[in-house]
Amino acid sequence: MSAPRLEIHLDRIHHNTRALVHELAGVGVTVTGVTKATLGSPEVARAMLSAGVSALGDSRIENIERLRAAGITSQMMLIRSPMISQADRVVAVADVSLNSSLDVIDCLSAAAVGRGCVHGVILMVELGDLREGILAADIEAAARHTLDLPGVALRGIGTNLACQNGVMPDDHKMAELSAIVTGLESTLGISLEVVSGGNSANLDWVNNTARIGRVNNLRLGESILLGCETLHRRPLAGLRTDAVELVAEVIESAVKPMRPWGEQAQNAFGEFVSQQTPHLRADAGRDGPRDEPVRSGGRHLQLGHRMIVALGRQDVDPDGLRAPAGHQVLGMSSDHLVLSTDAAPRAVGSEIRFGLDYGALLRAMTSPFVQQVFLGAPT
Ligand SMILES: *Cc1c(COP(=O)(O)O)cnc(C)c1O
Repeated sequence: MSAPRLEIHLDRIHHNTRALVHELAGVGVTVTGVTKATLGSPEVARAMLSAGVSALGDSRIENIERLRAAGITSQMMLIRSPMISQADRVVAVADVSLNSSLDVIDCLSAAAVGRGCVHGVILMVELGDLREGILAADIEAAARHTLDLPGVALRGIGTNLACQNGVMPDDHKMAELSAIVTGLESTLGISLEVVSGGNSANLDWVNNTARIGRVNNLRLGESILLGCETLHRRPLAGLRTDAVELVAEVIESAVKPMRPWGEQAQNAFGEFVSQQTPHLRADAGRDGPRDEPVRSGGRHLQLGHRMIVALGRQDVDPDGLRAPAGHQVLGMSSDHLVLSTDAAPRAVGSEIRFGLDYGALLRAMTSPFVQQVFLGAPT
């Protein structure tokens, strides 16, 4: 099989989705399965749908178009505010979008009228993380504005925390969201169908709160794909953290000195790599090679087993790679990943399997050099 490749285990994605859907159903919360990290993969979307998500969500209209082109007919939510320049494409394929600009909603209205359809609008409320959202004081006016427009229907209210500034969803923030919902309903004499309380960063709160309030939907991506919550990146009980793995091939494997020699300046990425700290990763040197230093040409040369893997920054974010036990990532340039190992060295031509964090997953999914292999049909 070709390398590098992402091995995407659909059965594990199905397992994670089903566990989260089941758990959240117990507190009356539906799951929108977010596919953006997979560029709107129809395979991943189908695994999520068969595990019970109520809708799919993606931040890019291109990805939603891809899902539609693959024949997926489920509810789809655009989870980034639409671009005005894409309003027509949005109403054509997405049932609902998350919105925080009235100018955009005006254009969605005009586009939907033009197409003779009705587009669902969820108004996003700013609760302090300072990414998208309308300030609480302006929500009522935004709701009235939306209710007055043809071609759009006010489906609900949402919020997004943690992504920009790590502001935590807690009882206080979520009670504020619920209060906004009940306030709007009584002032405007409407009922709001969807209260989309957030993303994978909300799972700690959901699992521990006795006050779920009006929240009845979460938009989950990372927790499904990587099996962790996102405030502390702790694995979630019962979920697989290895649903996606990156496999790459060894192209050099040799015993070499562990410290560079010669005058040093910047490396390819503008970093200065100290002679004293040969490892780029601050934590990587602790269990490094234990060979006695040997004297060679007047230099102290500590030897270790080093490997080069054909994987680079064009493929993945080095900070988000988890090397196998006994292996340390020493550095990565555009096309070379350098590892040291205390374990049995691997031969040239053999493969090494890495875990990924969200940033690494995003980049690997986006690299044209990384093949995607789907394994384990969801049951
Ligand atoms: C990316 C995103 C999500 C999903 O976040 P995860 O941390 O992957 O669960 C939900 N909502 C919005 C608005 C997003 O941009």
